[in-house]
Amino acid sequence: MDNNKTTLEDIISLCKRRGFIYQGSDIYGGLSGTWDYGPLGLMIKDQVKKLWWERFVDNRTDMYGVDAAILMNPKVWISSGHVDTFTDPLVEDLKTKKRYRADHILEAAGFSVSGKTTDEMSAMIKDNKIKSIDGNDFGEVRKFNMMFKTNIGAIESDENTVYLRPETAPGMFVNFKNIQDTFHPRLPFGMAQIGKAFRNEIAPRDFVFRVREFEQMEIEYFVNPKNWESTFEHFQKEIKEFSHDIGLDRDKLHELEVSKEDRAHYSSRTVDFEYDFPIGKKELYGLAYRSDFDLKAHMEGSKADLTYFDEETKERFIPHCIEPSFGLDRTILAILGTAYTVDTMADEERIVLKLSPSVAPYRVAVLPLVKNKEDLVNKAKEIFEKIKNIAGKNGIAKSKIVYDETQSIGKRYRRQDEIGTPICLTVDFDTLEKGTVTLRDRDSGKQEVVKVEDLEGLFSK
Ligand code: ATP
Repeated sequence: MDNNKTTLEDIISLCKRRGFIYQGSDIYGGLSGTWDYGPLGLMIKDQVKKLWWERFVDNRTDMYGVDAAILMNPKVWISSGHVDTFTDPLVEDLKTKKRYRADHILEAAGFSVSGKTTDEMSAMIKDNKIKSIDGNDFGEVRKFNMMFKTNIGAIESDENTVYLRPETAPGMFVNFKNIQDTFHPRLPFGMAQIGKAFRNEIAPRDFVFRVREFEQMEIEYFVNPKNWESTFEHFQKEIKEFSHDIGLDRDKLHELEVSKEDRAHYSSRTVDFEYDFPIGKKELYGLAYRSDFDLKAHMEGSKADLTYFDEETKERFIPHCIEPSFGLDRTILAILGTAYTVDTMADEERIVLKLSPSVAPYRVAVLPLVKNKEDLVNKAKEIFEKIKNIAGKNGIAKSKIVYDETQSIGKRYRRQDEIGTPICLTVDFDTLEKGTVTLRDRDSGKQEVVKVEDLEGLFSK
């Protein structure tokens, strides 16, 4: 099967069947826009986060990690502009009262909404007689703020409204002064954070692509405005390298220069990284030059001094900021969509997840050929321990090695193929007699007989 024909339903079904991702609150019929990661999905997610943190924080000396609170002083969201402008255009089917994103409705009808106001969108819908999928008229387009509100403390009132953060970025801007005061970093330096974000999306859809609760991995990198362009290009390259680290397909990743009218007024450059998902080409990551907009806004709002003093030039100024922003859940969908393959092996159709070993839940599955021969099973368990130790010596977590003895060997191969385990190591009667095991390659199905003592080099291949 052509991989392009993989549908979202194929992936959702595999995810549920094998324990990657389940519908949120499943036994209660779900909650729209929420999904729960099961053990295998979490293993991929954790690995992606680990690789991201390694590349952008651990392997550098100019990055400061933070883990800011999700609930923040509501003034943060006034200064950042979210209270006034973090909106999507909402339009309602006048009969069914179902709500839609007006920009999505217009785009699906072949119109460009770039730079259009809500009034202009209303007129476009009316003039072109665009109807809802139920064939009804739409009302006026209006702005809908996507921040979830709640109250802090025991009394519910407007005075104690707080928001669930719709992005992780402000958690870094509000700690800019703390980092400066504690660590005295020289420009350029960055702050990095991984955490949950919440958006009351009008129409959550497409599995984990557009959800109401998701995770982001973000960097705010501060520079002297003279140097923003080279830093921008550096992160452009780094985003592509990171995508490669986690096994995404270079040919499916596209850079879109966001046009002036679609960019925020303070930004001189924004690049959206789009990816060929099973639902088409859509935004995966973003890279934006945000000038001094955020620090300036928070300086005005909080009255704290968020300037920087350059010891060499004796200049004091507000640093400018480059923001690479990564959505973790869209990353998982991109990984699964890229890896999901249907092919034929030994005259049988199979589903195989061709995951990069860097993100596969398991690196090796150890399988005794049969489970009713005690000496064979004991040997397999002994080899399982050995492989876990070899993994440990190679910096691979022991949990990445799995032991599996239920059902026939053929069924176990299929199961491991479906969860993307790159190597199946089978312990058979030759293991007892000749001290050899069989290694089966997930993608080609090729089998190789190797001596147990040669397994030390298993992970260096
Ligand atoms: P979109 O236009 O698709 O709504 P956006 O431009 O609003 O996305 P940003 O505000 O730039 O997104 O957020 C940064 C990243 O966070 C996105 O590139 C995406 O990976 C992720 N993201 C944003 N909204 C969602 C969501 N509702 N569900 C899952 N991931 C999201």
